[in-house]
Amino acid sequence: MKSGIQQTEKRINRGRVLQLICTGEARSRLELSKATGLTKMTITNAVNEWIREGWIYESEQVRTAGAGRNPAVLGLTPLSPLIIGVHLAREHISALLCDMSLNVLRRDRIELCGEDEATLIDKIFDIIDRLGSIGEDEKQNGEGSAVSVGDGINGRRILGIGVSSIGPLDCQNGILLGVPNFYGIKRLELGRMLRERYRLPVLVDNDMNLAAIAEKQFGGGRPLDDFLYVGITHGIGAGIIYDSRLLHNSGMTGEIGHMSVSWNGEPCVCGSRGCLEGYASVPVVLERIEREIGLKLTFEEACASENKGVRAIMDDVCECISTAFVGLVNILAPQAVFIGHEGACFSDEVLEHIEENVNSRSLSGRQRSVSVSRSAFGEHAALFGSACGILERVFTGRDIPL
Ligand SMILES: [Zn+2]
Repeated sequence: MKSGIQQTEKRINRGRVLQLICTGEARSRLELSKATGLTKMTITNAVNEWIREGWIYESEQVRTAGAGRNPAVLGLTPLSPLIIGVHLAREHISALLCDMSLNVLRRDRIELCGEDEATLIDKIFDIIDRLGSIGEDEKQNGEGSAVSVGDGINGRRILGIGVSSIGPLDCQNGILLGVPNFYGIKRLELGRMLRERYRLPVLVDNDMNLAAIAEKQFGGGRPLDDFLYVGITHGIGAGIIYDSRLLHNSGMTGEIGHMSVSWNGEPCVCGSRGCLEGYASVPVVLERIEREIGLKLTFEEACASENKGVRAIMDDVCECISTAFVGLVNILAPQAVFIGHEGACFSDEVLEHIEENVNSRSLSGRQRSVSVSRSAFGEHAALFGSACGILERVFTGRDIPL
């Protein structure tokens, strides 16, 4: 009979082994042993359990002439479980159905405009139902499609539904709490509604936090202990990975959009003055370009523009962001900052400029240079992050919240 501690250790090891196989960091038992420092016996036990479960396959060993045997390769089986991820943004909902290596089987997007609580919920249900109707033509009449998602898709179990959402949120209970300027919605028990409809585990968290988790599991943050994911969109927020873990307290961590970059600056809705969002959020930048230059651009167009006036405005934006980053880097001493959401549209030149500013002005940056680069997921870290939130539970051997 194994003790509780041994059982916990076993679950953690199993999760770690699965993570390394899913992310492609280790493809054989030998590589797993090297990457984890665990004994061959422990690796064998963990791998065998995943094979018995039907999640992992192991290829035959191949004997090559004169070179001995190539190690058997490990990978996900075609019947391994899937995950549904939903990103709830201010102006759209995007969703995906993917496997545990983030291979996307289906992806969808619905624009939001003039919603109320009922239509918003309808659209969230609709996008999930559409993901679930994969390969099931008979479900075209709309009957019972919700049941099929909960029961698995094409014989594959669904591990859960992850939702990355704009906040503020009560993450523990999956509740959206009075998001400012968001269709008048005061309190939405999204977690409960999804659980009741699909009978699946549901996880709801801040989009910046889950984007940072995605970067840690599958992106540029994989080998790093300390980094920031900064999303620049309608607002500006950060997910903070510190000592290899997400800093996550009351759900108010990482509100860097409200870091003041100008003491006497413009008043902000939060009660402070000169907040970063007031200078560098997407709508503020686009409104300024329209007001001062007379051009109506998308953020992507503004980032790529050769227009002198637009470039001067983008230089200003770059300075405001650098000012905030210097403060953050001095406090948290990250190894890297990954910029995502619409901020992924910044040119390489702008990213290099921010990196130079941060490294020349911060104490820790001068000691150990901080890299500033684009998220590995471009603009979509929050969408992939929604699935990674569910994966994080599996990879750390914890239960998926019900
Ligand atoms: Zn503010």
